[in-house]
Amino acid sequence: MSVRIGVLALQGDFAEHGAMLGRLDTQAVEVRQPSDMAGIAGLIIPGGESTTIGKLMERYGFREPICHLAETGKPIWGTCAGLILMARDVGRTQPLLNLLDITVERNAFGRQTDSFETDLEIDGISGGPFPAVFIRAPVVRTVGPGVQVLSRLNDGTIVAVRHGRLFGTSFHPELTGDTRLHAGFVEMARQA
Ligand code: GLN
Repeated sequence: MSVRIGVLALQGDFAEHGAMLGRLDTQAVEVRQPSDMAGIAGLIIPGGESTTIGKLMERYGFREPICHLAETGKPIWGTCAGLILMARDVGRTQPLLNLLDITVERNAFGRQTDSFETDLEIDGISGGPFPAVFIRAPVVRTVGPGVQVLSRLNDGTIVAVRHGRLFGTSFHPELTGDTRLHAGFVEMARQA
């Protein structure tokens, strides 16, 4: 049976996540208001502009239903701006969900490397390195107890974390042809 995975569709590259889920025979639901979350087995918060997504999230009353989804053990995965929104602290005032005990630095790569691609080893992902696309990406500066680091750049910078069924990645797996991360997320949602 195919599970329903919600993709928060307020702003950003939700369509690309939807396309990725489609390749995995999974029903992707574009979540534009809280009622769209009915019956979803997991939620992806896409990349985009975290300030904009956060403001719209507040305006449409998403905080409570998203936190409730997390409390009921359903997987949630934030990519790039989504990672920022899941953080506890990003060093400036903007709406955050505080779902992951991490501090994040936005736009952490200087101008020259604003955007780049690199191959990453990711804990739990077998079959060789994962092609990771970074676009004005955030990085994780500190992780609290219980937060597992899944991947780092060569210089040690943290770019993927997990706490239980909550995931955050600095990069954009939906912009590559590699479905392994989405497949793992869908499998987790199926079991949750
Ligand atoms: N720079 C964006 C922010 O800080 C995130 C970029 C992205 O999601 N690709 O919100």
